[in-house]
Amino acid sequence: MHQDNAHHTTDVVIIGAGPVGLFAVFQCGMLKMRCHVIDSLPEIGGQCSALYPEKPIYDIPAYSAISGAELIQQLRKQAEPFDPVYHLDQQVMHVARHGEGWRVTTSHGTIIEARVIMIAGGCGAFGPNRPPLDGLAAYEGNSVFYHVARKEQFRGKRIVIAGGGDSAVDWVNALADVASKIYVVHRRPKFRAAPQSVSQMQALAKIGDVVEMVIPYQLHGLHGCDGVLEAVDVATLEGDVRRLEADILLPFFGLSMELGPIATWGLQLDMSHIKVHHATMHTNQQGIFAIGDIATYEGKLKLILCGFSEAAMAAHAAYPLVHPDTALHFEYSTSKGVPL
Ligand SMILES: Cc1cc2nc3c(=O)[nH]c(=O)nc-3n(C[C@H](O)[C@H](O)[C@H](O)COP(=O)(O)OP(=O)(O)OC[C@H]3O[C@@H](n4cnc5c(N)ncnc54)[C@H](O)[C@@H]3O)c2cc1C
Repeated sequence: MHQDNAHHTTDVVIIGAGPVGLFAVFQCGMLKMRCHVIDSLPEIGGQCSALYPEKPIYDIPAYSAISGAELIQQLRKQAEPFDPVYHLDQQVMHVARHGEGWRVTTSHGTIIEARVIMIAGGCGAFGPNRPPLDGLAAYEGNSVFYHVARKEQFRGKRIVIAGGGDSAVDWVNALADVASKIYVVHRRPKFRAAPQSVSQMQALAKIGDVVEMVIPYQLHGLHGCDGVLEAVDVATLEGDVRRLEADILLPFFGLSMELGPIATWGLQLDMSHIKVHHATMHTNQQGIFAIGDIATYEGKLKLILCGFSEAAMAAHAAYPLVHPDTALHFEYSTSKGVPL
């Protein structure tokens, strides 16, 4: 379930929908704690989805090999019986004390109040590398997009696709049959993408007039009004400027990771990681836990399987805060079962 731009109350807010955040939903659910999960990316899965969806992982217990994407699909399924609410494509900006718990505010204005926060933020929020163009923010979400959710949104549009990696090349190929025009802007003739995809793109540019290669050019400026793009200026290193009439700009310059606002929440940090008490994963702030890659303690291993164990320990340590009047009796999942 996905929701946005509203005010919610829950038991646990999980910051980060990577593998560890997703498993924390399951662990909290088993202990009757409801969760909302927030991520700055439009899809769940953290590094597994964003960086290596097709690579096999060999050290997940009981799987001799499982791809990043398949692991995330399984974790989502495992969490489903507990009805987590996902708030995607938005970064947690502020965390403030609220009564006995916390209030979390996202970049979309979503407010969530909860007794407990679990930070499963990996290396920090993932976000697109933005091209340094004046006035860019006004076009974002209207005419400038960093990912494609639905191809149909671009039917009949004149599109500028910038970048030389897999995303740029794959989207040129995928949008060639819906766009009216695609300008491929890249600073050099060589692309860092799968050779087969590059050949397909070059063939499209040769045989039709939809795809046009604009090389060696870089993005230079935007023209339009009220967030509606009319043209994109591109320039060579020598300063030759060319104007491309366009409705949409898709810059694909990879992802950046930054700890961002987490660094300002009063948590004890050690080189961009959050220091925790290893037995409970508790931070120096009452009611805030940190798990997965972002947590650090003596002997920490940045492995998914360690993050899973940390999620279980944090959930057990969080239980008395969420259910102060009910003692926790440890039970195996085989005895307890899961809701159907
Ligand atoms: C190429 C590669 C191969 C790997 N292979 C293996 C392997 O074989 N075995 C293994 O165990 N590990 C492997 N890893 C490491 C593994 O992917 C990480 O240990 C794991 O992803 C950590 O999970 P996580 O949930 O803690 O964080 P992440 O997966 O990093 O997810 C954190 C999420 O939190 C979000 N976030 C952070 N801050 C905010 C905020 N303020 N607001 C909203 N969202 C926020 C981020 O956008 C991100 O989606 C590999 C990593 C890479 C890059």
